[in-house]
Amino acid sequence: MVVVKVGGSAGIDYDAVCADVAALWKEGRRLIVVHGGSGETNRVAEALGHPPRFVTSPSGYTSRFTDRQTLEIFEMVYCGKMNKGIVERLQRHGVNAVGLSGLDGRIFEGRHKDSVRAVENGKVKVLRGDHTGTVERVNTGLIELLLSGGYLPVLTPPGASYEGVAINVDGDRAAAALAAALGADALLLLSNVPGLLRDFPDERSLIREIPANEVEAYLDFAQDRMKKKVLGAAEAVAGGVRRVIFGDARAGAPVSAALAGAGTVVS
Ligand code: ADP
Repeated sequence: MVVVKVGGSAGIDYDAVCADVAALWKEGRRLIVVHGGSGETNRVAEALGHPPRFVTSPSGYTSRFTDRQTLEIFEMVYCGKMNKGIVERLQRHGVNAVGLSGLDGRIFEGRHKDSVRAVENGKVKVLRGDHTGTVERVNTGLIELLLSGGYLPVLTPPGASYEGVAINVDGDRAAAALAAALGADALLLLSNVPGLLRDFPDERSLIREIPANEVEAYLDFAQDRMKKKVLGAAEAVAGGVRRVIFGDARAGAPVSAALAGAGTVVS
């Protein structure tokens, strides 16, 4: 089993990713796709007059402040345009894909965090009304049901809180929780960079290998959103996933290339 997380930043070639996923699926590989949608969500939020707000925690993690209106815009883009766009591409390639959010069937479940600590102008503030959370449980039964019926699951945030409220969960960490829960052989975190760069944005500084027991030490190289990917990788390997690969989704056959070891391999 391979979990393929494809990001939502500018430059990602979804046609290339879907063609590659479809080819591997037809060869008999068991695959699950998890995707993001942050770039498009930012554009739609601006257009709807509710621009995105990003907050940085005291420990340096950046996240989207998700008030109710933001959550609704987030759902339109992630569960609507992005999810159906990927499902449609896979269907065109003859793969019977099913697109679901983590809220559907409680695929991604976790605790709702209503408030977030954010550093603004050098001061730590507590912001309330946030709809975020971290995936703590995965409904593997529903995923297995789809796979055993021959359907390829295409999953996206949000997840469900224990009270049944939609929560914005990080896609990389959700994919890591899914890969661990399913005992996947590999988790691919595909984005618009060649992998983890020692000296971002210099692409020649690609880190090729990270020993599984040293992942957290590499958090220092990652800035802003890349930190969540490194954290997700650490969680996945701690959860028993043998290989996590940070790969490039901008062209070529991104899934096959990552499986063949292109990018940053954590093992
Ligand atoms: P996605 O939405 O595709 O999952 P993100 O935009 O959340 O991906 O994270 C990838 C981004 O992280 C890159 O586009 C890059 O701007 C940034 N980044 C920060 N530090 C690094 C690093 N050391 N190596 C690679 N990318 C980095």
